[in-house]
Amino acid sequence: MADELYSLTIHEAAGMLRRGELSSVALTEAVLDRVVAVDNDVKAYLALTPEAALADAAAADALFAAADDPARLPALLGIPLAVKDVILVEGVPTTCGSRILEDFMPPYEATVTAKLRAAGAVILGKTNTDEFAMGSSTENSAYFTTHNPWDLSRVPGGSSGGSAAAVAAGECLGALGSDTGGSVRQPAGLCGVVGLKPTYGRVSRYGLVAFASSLDQIGPLARDVTDAALLLNTIAGYDPRDSTSMNVPVPDYRAALTGDVRGLRVGVPREYFIDGMQPQVEQAVRAAIDTLAALGAEVVEIRLPNTEHALPVYYLIAPAEASANLARFDGVRYGLRHPDAETMWQGYTMTRGAGFGPEVKRRIMLGTYALSAGYYDAYYLKAQQVRTLLKQDFDQAFQQVDVIACPTSPTTAFKIGEKADDPLSMYLADVFTLSLNLAGNCGLSLPCGFDAAGLPIGLQLIGPAFGEGTILRAAHAYEQATDWHLQRPMLNNMPAD
Ligand code: GLN
Repeated sequence: MADELYSLTIHEAAGMLRRGELSSVALTEAVLDRVVAVDNDVKAYLALTPEAALADAAAADALFAAADDPARLPALLGIPLAVKDVILVEGVPTTCGSRILEDFMPPYEATVTAKLRAAGAVILGKTNTDEFAMGSSTENSAYFTTHNPWDLSRVPGGSSGGSAAAVAAGECLGALGSDTGGSVRQPAGLCGVVGLKPTYGRVSRYGLVAFASSLDQIGPLARDVTDAALLLNTIAGYDPRDSTSMNVPVPDYRAALTGDVRGLRVGVPREYFIDGMQPQVEQAVRAAIDTLAALGAEVVEIRLPNTEHALPVYYLIAPAEASANLARFDGVRYGLRHPDAETMWQGYTMTRGAGFGPEVKRRIMLGTYALSAGYYDAYYLKAQQVRTLLKQDFDQAFQQVDVIACPTSPTTAFKIGEKADDPLSMYLADVFTLSLNLAGNCGLSLPCGFDAAGLPIGLQLIGPAFGEGTILRAAHAYEQATDWHLQRPMLNNMPAD
């Protein structure tokens, strides 16, 4: 049991709330106090809504007080959570980490946050992100960079770096992020928390500002596997308002956490242990695989032969889709409109020139080029064909194994500024995460150790489409056998800039 209220897991807090040992108002106040104490250093939040949060907490307490059988109340009732600022929460500005949406007030609510609210969760605010979720460090946020709670001179990963840092630092009990190429799993790995990218179609994207529509999924970030399962239970499911959401029944993911991995076939892909990765990352991940074997899993080496093509394929498809999606930010319909524009064309070019940051502009140019006449066949079409091969790699692997185990990222958290001027080395941060988005299946990251500098290392467990229950089961069994997830950052090791 954690010492401080802000360090509680969701399931610990939920138990205390049900037993009358804690009120949601006291819990929410403790977390808000923690935000005041540490967020000047961590900078996880773009917007905080303390009054609304405390009102929701009071409403939750009233429901607990009135309940005949509190055990039957929703698991997230009264639990303070944070939401990445690419997801629309009605009445709270959504910036997407961009100047172009600086004053944008969403007119409607995302399905995922509506589901959180219906379950009685308390939404604390919106967390920092790379601009339009394009990045791996939050350094592409137009507002500020989030700092890693384990070492404030380092990045938290990205693009859901604000959510991951907030969970790690005790500034919320759990959070939502979005994952287009790794943006939930990579920051979870770098901040020592659990992050899950659901299968494409598992969670509604209604109210998620689109980056690359064939890749985007919303996923939970949490302090342990049980909490990730509880969050997924609440947000998963079919939504008629997202035509890509799938009408597949939602199992109880918490019930999947049996602790038993005997006979589970765990594949270890040779292609995911590459030259140039940090030796301590490889050691920790191999030790984690040994732990799964000791728990009774059957470990086999597998091949995912097209893995080396995933990064170039992703960096054609994701920017191509982004260039189309971001065409809507034209100074007419949403957000910023440049005040000096005199003609229609000036309205477009001046607004977009001033409103978008350099990485977003780079992606729009890359994507427009890949889609343009004469280049479409050579780049975009070819990328789509290779994408099919990547999916076939996974399909074949999942005939042999139930789960694939590998690192989440090739390195632990890097220094702020270290890769900021080198887009290609930044893109490599997602080399192990983005093939799943291309193939559409699910994956999670959970803590599996620390490097010599005390920075967390993430183990990625990949499952087939709609295999969330299996990867959560394997992750939970591993978590029960280790105590990495119980470590909390001290938050006093480095002064912030
Ligand atoms: N880092 C990757 C990119 O910049 C992935 C981002 C994401 O998953 N949103 O595209």
